[in-house]
Amino acid sequence: MALAALPRSFRGLPVLTSIRREPMLYGRIHGVLRPLHGGFVSAGRAIVINDSCFRPNGRFGEIDDFTATVIHEWTHAFNNYDPETGTIHRDWRDNLLMKEYAEVSGPWEFRAPTVQDIGRFYVPGMHKPGDIIEKKTEVWIFKGIEALTDYSKCSPQEHLSDTMVHLLLSPESAERNAPKCSALLSKRFGLDSAEPTQP
Ligand SMILES: [Zn+2]
Repeated sequence: MALAALPRSFRGLPVLTSIRREPMLYGRIHGVLRPLHGGFVSAGRAIVINDSCFRPNGRFGEIDDFTATVIHEWTHAFNNYDPETGTIHRDWRDNLLMKEYAEVSGPWEFRAPTVQDIGRFYVPGMHKPGDIIEKKTEVWIFKGIEALTDYSKCSPQEHLSDTMVHLLLSPESAERNAPKCSALLSKRFGLDSAEPTQP
């Protein structure tokens, strides 16, 4: 299982408790609980994966969708957690790792969301037509060059998670197509010197 190759920095995080599967996943969108697709994680909580991820392939092409989704959600733990200092930040913008990553992957422009942003992040194969995809209270405009997936362009956080998936599961193509982002993540997460840890 590819998860056995996760770097040591992914283990023992104080911001993650468990991974669990739920057949349906709900989230609040404009105050209303609606079914969501994919996975979910937030600081101090579990990674929750729903049944839409149990497919041979999804939005990561050749890469197994379940493994990719777990790594994607797991990586979100680092939005608010700096593994070098062991500090948990309430705001990801205070996290040095995220500051550095937003700089390398961007530039990013920020603006407040509008009604038109609903549906902007429709992902074929992940969402059905008619799904309401507004998952954001923030809108980031991607002005960078390196993006391995369209979904990466949602925000620096999604960019980091999708790049990490590719870097761990398809490193040669990640390094070729997103060299600056890959180099920063390899350095910060110690991937170059990584000895695979046991699950
Ligand atoms: Zn995500």
